[in-house]
Amino acid sequence: MMAYLVFLGPPGAGKGTYAKRIQEKTGIPHISTGDIFRDIVKKENDELGKKIKEIMEKGELVPDELVNEVVKRRLSEKDCEKGFILDGYPRTVAQAEFLDSFLESQNKHLTAAVLFDVPEDVVVQRLTSRRICPKCGRIYNMISLPPKEDELCDDCKVKLVQRDDDKEETVRHRYKVYLEKTQPVIDYYGRKGILKRVDGTIGIDNVVAEVLKIIGWSDK
Ligand code: AMP
Repeated sequence: MMAYLVFLGPPGAGKGTYAKRIQEKTGIPHISTGDIFRDIVKKENDELGKKIKEIMEKGELVPDELVNEVVKRRLSEKDCEKGFILDGYPRTVAQAEFLDSFLESQNKHLTAAVLFDVPEDVVVQRLTSRRICPKCGRIYNMISLPPKEDELCDDCKVKLVQRDDDKEETVRHRYKVYLEKTQPVIDYYGRKGILKRVDGTIGIDNVVAEVLKIIGWSDK
């Protein structure tokens, strides 16, 4: 099974959650640029780390050139021979064009760009109640997908945390940035004829089933 996928949708659409499930089922690696940058910020206390931290805390976008470089490196790793699920990338038309030319240079092309449609008020409610395991990255929601015990990760038993940029004011700003910068990316893939829309409010299992249908995955 091989697929080159881009997941689009507002912050809080569930892209990371769906991508993790699909990775578990198909073995296609989930690549989140947000996770990569959070990792850089955690590990690198230099100028670059500080600059990225500042940008993320404001809900702004990291400069295209830097994001593209990080993605190029990650897509060159061995596990990407099975394809990839890009979550949170591309977020600008310049990034989408970069991805296209990078894939073209390897005689590859995207299988689909999947857009998860979710209205703004649902996104804000979801993100402000989102919690994450700081150890394994598993995503919970205190309303719709709570952990079994208190605020502890079911697997690691460590206390869940809230992302700094999941505060309401920042969430609303991130949504605004999404409409401004990422909406044109949706149109870009629409014009290429590879855009697939999935209603992001039908529940995790149903959404995952829809995506598996799109890529032609079957359990048998
Ligand atoms: P995410 O986890 O996808 O919501 O990303 C968190 C933050 O990381 C974003 O608000 C941006 O500041 C930064 N980021 C992640 N991916 C990108 C990207 N493709 N382009 C620019 N900034 C990004």
